[in-house]
Amino acid sequence: MPINKLFDTAIVGGGVAGASLLFTLAKYTDIKNIILFEKYEEMSMLNSHPTSNSQTLHVGDIETNYSYDKAKVVKTSSSMIAKYIENHDGLGTLGFISNKMVLAVGEVEIANLKERYERFKSLYPYLELWDEEMLLDIEPKLLEKRKVPILAMGAKGQITTVDFKKLSESFTQEALDTEKNIQIRYNEEVMKIVRNTDKTYTITTDTTTFNAKSVVVNAGSYSLLFAQSMGYGKEYAVLPIGGSFFFSKKKYLNAKVYTMQNPKLPFAAVHADPDCTQEWNTRFGPTAFALPKLERYQALHVRDLISALNIDRDATKVYMNLLKDKTIRNYIVRNVVEEIPLLGKEVFIYDAQKIIPSLKASDIVFAKKYGGMRPQIVDKSKHELLMGEVKLKNDGIIFNMTPSPGASSSLSIAMTDAQYICDYLGTTFDTKKHTEELL
Ligand SMILES: Cc1cc2nc3c(=O)[nH]c(=O)nc-3n(C[C@H](O)[C@H](O)[C@H](O)COP(=O)(O)OP(=O)(O)OC[C@H]3O[C@@H](n4cnc5c(N)ncnc54)[C@H](O)[C@@H]3O)c2cc1C
Repeated sequence: MPINKLFDTAIVGGGVAGASLLFTLAKYTDIKNIILFEKYEEMSMLNSHPTSNSQTLHVGDIETNYSYDKAKVVKTSSSMIAKYIENHDGLGTLGFISNKMVLAVGEVEIANLKERYERFKSLYPYLELWDEEMLLDIEPKLLEKRKVPILAMGAKGQITTVDFKKLSESFTQEALDTEKNIQIRYNEEVMKIVRNTDKTYTITTDTTTFNAKSVVVNAGSYSLLFAQSMGYGKEYAVLPIGGSFFFSKKKYLNAKVYTMQNPKLPFAAVHADPDCTQEWNTRFGPTAFALPKLERYQALHVRDLISALNIDRDATKVYMNLLKDKTIRNYIVRNVVEEIPLLGKEVFIYDAQKIIPSLKASDIVFAKKYGGMRPQIVDKSKHELLMGEVKLKNDGIIFNMTPSPGASSSLSIAMTDAQYICDYLGTTFDTKKHTEELL
């Protein structure tokens, strides 16, 4: 079969979002010819790599930055990943079971946590409140040298941690194992997408040209650039937010420990995570700071960055509004300082001590080559920084921007996209099989 035939669907980007869609289209639709382009040599080398993200399967139970409605959606979405892992014998390789909790420190946070527990307990009936006596038993480091009272809301024996790269590889293999014509083009960068008069799309890569009847762009920060090059999403800009981590020199915790969100801050509060790439050593973070890059540890492409920032008076207004708030201003300054070699950990240690009070700056090191970029979207027309996923779609082409919890929601996003593509192409989505296997 010639490789540059007309494909039914082309997927741009082989992170966990692209891999989830490849799997969903291959397994649950009658679409036969699918091509995926990934510009690096393997799946999930950027944000979906376990060194880039926090490896958390976000369920919404311990993330106090989620509203009730958001938690409900994330719970359903992430349950699809949990079900996939269980059905594919992935416990211990793709996903890992441990305890998890959100920790309230001091009377005010404790009162807020108790109130949240009451509101959320019907959504998460397995959640428990753990007092200091209980915590001393399961995570004694949380209590050592602690001067203020604490309370946790947590759960035992859950899938808390996912290696989203291994998960992407598993999705890809499942797709390749079907009878369909699946082409994976590694080391091939898509340069341009054009809609033709016959309603097909021409995809030009750095080496050749392909045609497809439908396209899904899951290219991280680059998704918006592709959209805008085709006339979509001009009202948006990307604010690239970097996130870094610190490792402790030894393992302190068995559970994932999140902290209570300061409602004034846009990014998730610091947490401590047993790291699946470092023999479960404790990783603290992430920090959050604006970084003039679209890909964390890759070369800077100035022209792409300038297009993504899409700076004009409306975008500037969003940033000025953020900077007006003293809490946010202090947070930004602190997070920038945390990046400075040696000095950074002297500042970050105060965040980490909220979780382990006995920790000293000499006990932690900056996690070199760890951390990723969140492509946060700015809505210039509404003067708002958007915190969740953004999707643009029209005429059989979809562009996805997927900051956190994009990895946990990837199978759900893929389901929505697959249904849209099936409607567009006049093909069938096998709802019954999909529901039985994933929902
Ligand atoms: C610090 C941090 C912590 C996070 N923690 C969590 C967490 O604990 N849990 C969670 O669920 N989410 C978390 N996230 C978010 C999560 O990492 C992302 O939502 C998810 O990885 C997005 O997947 P993706 O496939 O859309 O993007 P990516 O994984 O970035 O994949 C995009 C792919 O597109 C490819 N690509 C780009 N342009 C082209 C092109 N022109 N041609 C071909 N290929 C191209 C890239 O090479 C890349 O492989 C975190 C993010 C950060 C930054």
